[in-house]
Amino acid sequence: MRKYEDTYQHKGLRKKLVDLLREKGITDERVLDAINAIPRHYFLDSAFDKIAYEDRAFQIAAGQTISQPYTVAYQTQLLQIKKGDKVLEIGTGSVYQATILAEMGARVYTIERQKKLYDLQKGYYFRSKYPNIKFFFGDGFEGLPTYAPFDKVIITAAAPFIPPKLVEQLKPGGLMVIPLDEGGSQRMLRLTKQEDGSVTEEAFDLFSFVPMLTGKNL
Ligand code: SAH
Repeated sequence: MRKYEDTYQHKGLRKKLVDLLREKGITDERVLDAINAIPRHYFLDSAFDKIAYEDRAFQIAAGQTISQPYTVAYQTQLLQIKKGDKVLEIGTGSVYQATILAEMGARVYTIERQKKLYDLQKGYYFRSKYPNIKFFFGDGFEGLPTYAPFDKVIITAAAPFIPPKLVEQLKPGGLMVIPLDEGGSQRMLRLTKQEDGSVTEEAFDLFSFVPMLTGKNL
């Protein structure tokens, strides 16, 4: 069982992680503040307590992963989050990324296709602290048409293509951060939706994500 305790040791390790992310090129202080504020070890099994602040991904339930802190920071920085932004996240996983976004003042709509993970989120520790996160069980390729349009979309799994419905659900002027598969690794892209509905594309570094899969998994 996890003990929700954020000790000085945890805080110290987190500070070191933030320093490392800064060295690796993360410059948005609001992103770094959010990482410094959120106890990442709460999102992992207590067996990982000592290593929760290493800059690496870990296995969670249902064969899925909690993204590496650098990846979370990188995607969040590209999203240029402003307070009150309505953000659609594909791939709730451990809820760590969603929590970082919520801490920065975003209104987060997060979708998970694995029922087991979605059910685990019912015990989400920060539910009362971050009522600005809404959880959905579904297929991220479909997005959430009833809640659209969104200011920002973040995909946290390897996308085989740019999902057209997610582009549709983006506001004009909105941004989508998507790791697009290039055969084995994924190119981080930031798409900007123009007023006329067309999309411009900026390309960034290569990353490695678990695959974005179609349909739900009960
Ligand atoms: N953002 C997560 C990272 C989880 S890894 C975190 O902070 O921990 C990617 C997640 O995307 C996995 O949980 C996987 O089940 C989920 N996923 C993959 N394809 C999906 C889809 N089509 N719709 C919704 N979730 C999907």
